[in-house]
Amino acid sequence: MDKIEELISEQAIIKKVEEIGNQINKDFQNNKVMIVSVLKGSFIFTADLVRFLNFPVEIAFIAASSYGASTVSSGELKIRYDIDIPVKDKNVILVEDIIDTGLTISRLKEYLYELGAKDVRICTIFDKPDRREKQVSIDYCGFVIPNEFVVGYGLDYNNKYRNLRNLCKITI
Ligand code: 5GP
Repeated sequence: MDKIEELISEQAIIKKVEEIGNQINKDFQNNKVMIVSVLKGSFIFTADLVRFLNFPVEIAFIAASSYGASTVSSGELKIRYDIDIPVKDKNVILVEDIIDTGLTISRLKEYLYELGAKDVRICTIFDKPDRREKQVSIDYCGFVIPNEFVVGYGLDYNNKYRNLRNLCKITI
């Protein structure tokens, strides 16, 4: 049996998402923004966050994994589902569930610039800095969490637990 313990409550998460949304509203007043949600884990965070934004946003999704040598580059990016809206000359906010080694998000940021984005910011609801291999500048961060394997609020273990409304530590 998996042992599940709450780390962050549903109420604390939604309050933080609202704060991030308010900050993005301030930063991007009258500027066009495209949200790129990194699947699958950030689907719940993205759905909550965009409903706190008070201007029209374009929303796209990407599914990718990165592998390999972090000291040389951010590693190879394998895209399983690509963005279906033009990115050229747009302000993009990459929305992640959790940043761990930093490899995936760094490589995704580079990829968006390769597609011609004007500006790319990084937004994550959870940050696990202990295992960082690639330094990442996070523009919008929800919670810094300890080096535990976590599930809930979109994050899975073996494709389960994404639907938990809070963030939990799982012991297998
Ligand atoms: P990284 O920053 O190491 O390139 O990878 C981030 C990705 O690793 C996240 O998008 C997520 O899919 C996965 N990940 C990292 N830490 C955890 C965790 O504690 N729980 C879950 N479910 N996924 C994690």
